[in-house]
Formats: sequence, C-alpha cells, structure tokens
Amino acid sequence: MNYDPLFESVNIGPVTAPNRFYAVPHATGHGHLAPQGAIALRETKAMGGWGTVCVQITEVSADTDLASHPIERIWDEAYLTVHAKQAESIKRHGALAGIELGHAGMRARNFTTGVPVIGPSHLPIIRPEIPVQARAMDKRDIRRFRDDHRRAALAAKKAGYDILYVYAAHDISIFTNFLTLRTNQRSDEYGGSLENRVRLLREVLEDTLEVANGECAVALRFSVHETNAATPITYDAEGRDIVEMLAGLPDLWDVNISGWSADSNTSRFSEEGHQLPFTEFVKAVTDKPVVGVGRNTSPDKMLGLIKSGKQDLIGAARPSIADPYLPNKIRAGRVEDIRECIGCNICVSGDSYGVAIRCTQNPTMSEEWRRGWHPENIPAAQTAQHILIVGGGPAGLECAWTLARAGHEVTLAEASDDFGGRALLESGLPGLSAWRRVRDYRVYQLQQMANVQMYPANRLGVDEIKEYGADQVVIATGSSWRRDGVGSTNFAALPWLRELNVLTPDDVMAGKAATGKVVVFDDEHFYMGSVVAEEMRKRGHEVVLVTPLREVATWTDHTLEIGKILNRLVELGVEIHTDYGLLGGDEKQLRFEALRPGKAELVLDCDTLVFVGARLPKDDLYLELREHLPEGSVHLAGDALVPGMMQAAVFSGHKVAREILATANSENLVFRLERPDVT
Ligand code: ADP
Ligand code: SF4
Repeated sequence: MNYDPLFESVNIGPVTAPNRFYAVPHATGHGHLAPQGAIALRETKAMGGWGTVCVQITEVSADTDLASHPIERIWDEAYLTVHAKQAESIKRHGALAGIELGHAGMRARNFTTGVPVIGPSHLPIIRPEIPVQARAMDKRDIRRFRDDHRRAALAAKKAGYDILYVYAAHDISIFTNFLTLRTNQRSDEYGGSLENRVRLLREVLEDTLEVANGECAVALRFSVHETNAATPITYDAEGRDIVEMLAGLPDLWDVNISGWSADSNTSRFSEEGHQLPFTEFVKAVTDKPVVGVGRNTSPDKMLGLIKSGKQDLIGAARPSIADPYLPNKIRAGRVEDIRECIGCNICVSGDSYGVAIRCTQNPTMSEEWRRGWHPENIPAAQTAQHILIVGGGPAGLECAWTLARAGHEVTLAEASDDFGGRALLESGLPGLSAWRRVRDYRVYQLQQMANVQMYPANRLGVDEIKEYGADQVVIATGSSWRRDGVGSTNFAALPWLRELNVLTPDDVMAGKAATGKVVVFDDEHFYMGSVVAEEMRKRGHEVVLVTPLREVATWTDHTLEIGKILNRLVELGVEIHTDYGLLGGDEKQLRFEALRPGKAELVLDCDTLVFVGARLPKDDLYLELREHLPEGSVHLAGDALVPGMMQAAVFSGHKVAREILATANSENLVFRLERPDVT
C-alpha cells in the first residue's frame, strides 16, 4: 500500500502542516497544574511524526473555570512562559502547534474563582447535578468576553502557536450555549433567529482572524451534530446551516459530534470511523481544509478518507495517545507495529478524575516527563540477563516485551494454550472484541524477536522455576474472581452462597453453562457486570441484574458509557434492580435487602447466580519463590500483585520491567513531581 498521500503537506490558511496526521486537542489531566507533564506528552507526539499537535481547551479567562478538570489556562500573561515552552517543544520537531482557546460558558462552575458563570440566559448550568446557575450576559458582558478571547488569542500568538482555535464543540462552549435555542432564550440580536444565534461565534471568529493577521491560522472546532439533548443542531438541520453560514471564515474546520460521550465513543458502542456519516458533508460545503476524528487507527482507512476527499487531515486523540509514533511507523512501512487504541476510554477517566491520563495500550502515557519513559525507546540493558516470565496476560506480555527490547534474553511461559490471559478471554465477551489488541500487538512483537522464547501450554510450579535457573523471575499469573460474596460493598464472605449454583466471570469466560433464570449481582461496578448480563442474554437466558449501588455500572460514568450501558440492557430486556444487597437464598430463590429507605425486600426466582465481585491475586508462586531465590530476583506484576483494570496490569508489567532495568542503570524509581514554586 502506498501511504504517500498521508504525508502530503496541507495549507491551513497562512501555515502549512507538514503531513495529514493531526493530533486534535484532548484532555491530558496535566493541564495548568502539571505543565511539564503536558508539554512532554505533546512533544512526544510531535517526535512521533504528528504534523500538527494541538493543546486542549485553554481557559481564556477566569470566568470559565472548569474547577476539578485541570485543563490549560491563558488567563493572563503569567501563563505565557508555559505556553511559549509548549509551542516551542512541538515546533522543534517540525510540527505545527495549535491551541484550543475556549470558554466553557454554562459548563463552567467557577468554584475556584467564585465569579458568576455566564451564558446567554439566566439558567442553571448544563450539569443538572451541580447547583450553580449562569447569569445572562448583557452587552457589556459580551464585549468583555470578546475582549478576553481576543487577549487570549494575542497571548497565544505571542507564545508562538501556529493555529488559534475558536472552540464551539462538545456542549462545553459558550458558543454552543448561544447557538442552541435550548439555552439561548434571548430576544436581542444575539437570540432568536439562527443568524442572531450565530452572531457571537462569527464575531469572535472575526476577532481572532484579526489577531492572527495572516501570520497564524484560525481553526473552528464545531460539533455539527448534537446527540445529547433535543436540539435542531444536527448534521441535517442547523448543524449544516451553521457550517454553510460560516463556511469560508475559518482557515480550518475541525468537526465532530457532541456531547463528549458521542465524540469519544468506546469500541463497545461504536465502530472505527463512526462519526463520518455525520461529518462528511462539511467537505462539500467549504473549500477550507477539514479535519475529523473517529478513533481511526487503520492506515488503510485513513488513506481511504483522504483519497475519497472526505477529509483533508486525519484527526486523532485516542489513536495518538495509544501510539504517539503512529505516523512515523506508517512512514517507515511498519504498519504492523502500530499500537492500536482499543477504545476503552481509560484515558478519558483521567480527565474525569482530574489526574494525568493513562492508557491501556500505552503505559508510558503521562510518564514522559515525570518518569522519563519513552513509548519507543527502552534503555539498553547493561548486561543481558536471562529473565523468566510466568504468565502471558497483559502484564506478562508487556513486561516480556519491554525487557526483550532492552536486550535481555526472555522466556515467557503461559499455562493456557494461547497467550493473552484476560485480554484474550474478555475480548470474547459482547462488545469487547477490540480489547484483544492488547494481546495481539504484544504477541506479534514478541514473535519477531530472536531473544524471546515463548512457551504456551506450560504451567510452571516452584520446582520448575527454580530448576530453570533464570537470573530474574517475574510472576504475572493474574487473579481469579471471587465466588464467596466479597465485593466492593461487602467485605465479609457469605457462606450460604456455597449451597447455590454460582458462576463467576471466570466461569462465564471459560464457557461454563448457566441454567434457567440468571441473576447477575454486580458488586464491582465497572463493565464486567453489564457485559456478563449481555452474554447471558445472548445465550438465551432470562436475566436480572441487581446492584447494591444507586446506578448500574457506576464507574463507567468515567468512561462515558454509563448511559449507553443502561440503554443496551433495557433494549436486551434485562430486568434491573438497584440499591439491593445479597441477603440469602436457596437453589430456586434469592433474597435481597433494600439498601435505601422506602424500598421493600426483593425476592427473585433464580437458577444461576453470576456473582461479579472482588478478585484474589494469584500470588502463591511468588510468595513461595521469594523464600528460595536470591533477594531481589523475583518480581510480582499485574493482577497477581493487585487485581485491577487491564490498564493497571499493562502498566504494572511495564513498571516491573523498568525497575529490573533500573537496578542496572539507576536506583531512582520515584517519579518527578511538579511542585508549586514558592520562591
Ligand atoms: P494480568 O492482567 O496481570 O496479565 P491475566 O490473568 O490476564 O493477568 O494473565 C495471567 C496469565 O497467567 C493467565 O493467562 C494464566 O493462564 C497464566 N498463569 C497463571 N498461573 C500460571 C503458571 N503457574 N504458569 C504459567 N502461566 C500461568
Ligand atoms: Fe485508546 Fe483505551 Fe488508550 Fe484511551 S486508554 S487511548 S481508549 S487504548
């Protein structure tokens, strides 16, 4: 395949992107609180060949304070030093640097600043669970906002950015508030007709173009289609009208769909390129370059987008997180080396928590500055050692691959007939097939290496490991799901469960059959409960899902999936009960206690209980080996260390490998912290 078209330059107004790979603005969780981390993260993408690298939402003023989300700021000149360094560190590698100037309008909270939230009308902010209201902007407020945006644009230009964004996307923008009738209830020239509602956006675009003055480009990030509220801003109605009205104004159209959960949809609920049906019309409406996103990881599909004229630039947030070196790999003809995003949204959860983002596929994400980890370059081992890794799940595979890249002789033993551990098993569950990439990528990489021996169907015990005589041993034997009732809300085992037909997710993934009516009791609150409920429906069972928390799959709020999971379960006909704890039962019935006042005890017919609770680490081998092998030569990684997310297992495997490498190189394993400067 000839990928040369992906490496053509593209003129964006007065600036030129060296290629079509465009790392769109995305949350990093570092933001203004940890600028060194944010800068190194973005610089790594520029090093990896992204022709344009953009900085996430940057608050233009103090009245758009997003409180617990550490995004970027350019409130005043004090932020210039950071931004100048940021722009320079991207441009140093030949990439264009973009900055997404933004005002969150009715999505701001202003908890930090304490000033009123502003918007087009006197209405509560667009986070119904937060008791904050917005104040309707009068003409003076509008003037001040335009001045703030202009000042921020000037500062960004001074800092050296090539592309200045006007941000009207994701329902996190003051412009969106003005564009939609739901939030714009004004009767002056900024409300009513679409022409009036577009006025503020048009004015700010013109202001920004004036600031740019033909020396840098102006991009408009616009959600052409809103999915999260009843609004006529859809790709076939006002969304399209707005693009037509402003078609020639910005130098670049960066288009997507809104809200964020639609834009950053997971692989469980969307295919690669899922936004295209909504965004592809834009190319026909404007002659300015267009960039779009959609979790694109396949170079062939990227090529298709360019050749068919649907986009000019390939936008990527998650694919550039999972593999910051994606463009360079395509250029070098190493397509099979691309670490494809699995669409799990663990990265997104970092923003939700206000912490530096992590990635299931790329354990070096956010560690570029503070731990000095590079996604591609592993420090060479000073002396090649023989390292035995026991367990070929995500942790073992990542550990093996990292150590092998450093030049060690690696032997990987796996008890099952195939490698992959939970990545292999879980990818067989409904909606999780893309998770197999965690396994496939690493197994392929390991298979290419002469210094790696891989032994499937090899369950090792203490004696075999001792006999093997490796210099270092890593135990990555995973964990097992508990069947005794211990979960996130109940720490005491329930002995009566032993009398019942209980399956765990391990049983379900191993294909063990359930009988009759199935009750899934989810006391883990991530994806597994809902996924096994789906699986049981697929197998033809009547399914009831019960959870002690107030919502189904509570934690998936952070991966933007909670609403979609509920919809899917309802569509599949799964009966749902929340706020109930396990109380007792027999082979035919289960009793649940109500955990919220006003609810009655629940009794359900049940032939099979699928219990999704806590897990136990499989660390026996490690504990025993530690007694027999030299101090410091046995290591524990992944779920066998502590059961957690797949991302944590990959990270742990990587970290253990780095620690083994560091014993030869340096002892400094504590990461650098960005500390407040009080000089
Ligand atoms: P993690 O997420 O930490 O990688 P997994 O459960 O996905 O954990 O993978 C652990 C792997 O270790 C499984 O594939 C399992 O078959 C394998 N395993 C467990 N015990 C042994 C053993 N004694 N010898 C070899 N492989 C083992
Ligand atoms: Fe993709 Fe998951 Fe990594 Fe996010 S965390 S970039 S969704 S693999």
